[in-house]
Order: sequence, then C-alpha cells, then structure tokens
Amino acid sequence: MKIGEIFAGTPAEKAATATIATLSNRSTLSKKSQNELSQAKQLRSGLTRRRLIASGVGGGLAVSTAALIASGALRMLNPDHETPGESTYSFYLNAYEEVVQGDEEAERMLDFFKQKRRKGYLRGDQIIADEKGEKGDFYTVIVDLNNKKAMDSMKGFAQFKQKDTPPSLMLKPARLDKKWAGVLLAHESVHVYQWLNGIEQSRPNGFLEGEVDAYDLEFRLLDKITNNKLKQVLREQATQIEKGKIRGRLSSEDMKRLSELLPPIKSPEEYSLALPALTIAFNFAVAELQYQSPIEIKKAKIDYIEGVFSGKFPIIPA
Ligand SMILES: [Zn+2]
Repeated sequence: MKIGEIFAGTPAEKAATATIATLSNRSTLSKKSQNELSQAKQLRSGLTRRRLIASGVGGGLAVSTAALIASGALRMLNPDHETPGESTYSFYLNAYEEVVQGDEEAERMLDFFKQKRRKGYLRGDQIIADEKGEKGDFYTVIVDLNNKKAMDSMKGFAQFKQKDTPPSLMLKPARLDKKWAGVLLAHESVHVYQWLNGIEQSRPNGFLEGEVDAYDLEFRLLDKITNNKLKQVLREQATQIEKGKIRGRLSSEDMKRLSELLPPIKSPEEYSLALPALTIAFNFAVAELQYQSPIEIKKAKIDYIEGVFSGKFPIIPA
C-alpha cells in the first residue's frame, strides 16, 4: 500500500466506496448488485487500523479464534453462555474503568464511550444496531462469536470501523491481562470520540492524528499503572537514539526492565499486543526527547505512525 492510499484508499477501495454509496440507497437490488455490494463492503471493511498495525508486526503473532476456543479462553471470558458477546464487552469495559481512575481526560472518554454505545450484531456483512439511537450519534459494539468469519477476519482484538453504518467497534475475546485490555479499549474510545464528534473528519490528517492521540492516551494510562516508571525507562533508552533517527527498537535489557513493571505476559495474544505497543511507546518517547514544541513532537509522531502504517518500515525494526 502506498502512503497516499492510507488516506484516499487504493483505486479498488475507492471503487468499492462508490459502489456502496450507489447501491446502498436503492430500495431493491438485483442478485448481481447484491453480490457487488457485499464484495465492496468486504473490501472496505478490511481497511482498519488494527489490521494495518498487525500487518506491520508480521504474521507470526496472529492467533486464530480456533486456537482460542481450543485453549478454553472463550469459556474463561464468557461464563455467561446466553450472551457471550455481552460478557466479553463487560470484561473490556471493566478493565477500562479500572485503568482510567484519576485521569480526567480518560474519564471523559469513558463516559462518552458508555453513553454512545449500542448493542449490535452482524447479519451477513450488515451491521444491525439492537438498540435505538439517533443517526450519527452512536456506535455499536459487536462481539459476534457465532460469526467465525467475522471474528477470524480480525487481526487484533479491537477494531473501530468508522465508515460502517452505524460505526462499529468489534471486540474479540482474548486472554489479556485486565491492564492491557483496559488501555486497549481506552485507545479505541479515542477513535469513537473523535469520529462521533466530527474531529477526525475535520482535521487534514485526521486518521493519523487520531492514532497519535489514541496512543498518547494509551501510553499515559500504562505509565500511570506502572507508577510513572514506564516513561522513565523509555526516556532513558531514548537518549541512545541519534538525533533525527526517530525509529528505534527497545534493547532486550530495556524490554526486560519494562516487563518487570507490567503484568507478566501470559499468552501469545498479549505478546502480540504488548510488543508493538511498547515499541511505539518507545518511539514516541524519542520524539518527545528530540523535539521541543508540542507541534514538532506531534509531527514527528505522525510521521512515525505513517511510516509504520504504510509499511515503509516494520514496527519492530530488525
Ligand atoms: Zn487506533
């Protein structure tokens, strides 16, 4: 994928968007149009943030839902068999509630996130809101464990698809420590907040700026969890990076120090979340060290995220 296509989409994605726009408004569809619409939606739904992140990390870390089921993770996180999706949502939400305390901005995000959330489910590729909401003023949370295809198509554990109608946040059960689950949902809630308030759409670089804001909040909460030790370690290591060379990786020694601050990694899923997150946090710390003004710092972070998302360089440098 070329960098410009992150914003505008590839030609195929643009065509898909046009197809959706044209066909979605028709009251009836021929079989051929139905197929076209469904294919276009499938193509569009693939373009999501966590997927791009995951593809930057490499395939080795992906964990299939089948493996989760086999490991009993679904049972563990879903004691309530009647509404498995709902208990997964509660797990993530409780985790989020635990990590925000004392952070005013995060508390605001959380309130908004809870207030605007509606239950949802999938019917084929279509998103159905299961509760009433005013158009444009809510999003749905979908944990559709019966839809193996949809769950398997997720590369991460949480994906906010702002272009869906209504916008949807898909969650997947995973053996994550509550702290990681909490900061992950906090990250996604920034996207929900910025999209429903029109912030992402009104910024020239809305998609990437939103990522930087979401990671900034995620890392601030992680830092709080570690009694402000996380950023201290990252800052110390950041001094080793040559000026202007923002992209770096954590040394194994620092990785060890960081892992002692955080809950022990207890599943491959958690590793696949923690490793890129800490590496991005490290490069953000480098940006904060190498640049003075908030504008320059943000620009450096945007450039870095753009490089990672566009595949210009992998998240974990060799
Ligand atoms: Zn994001």
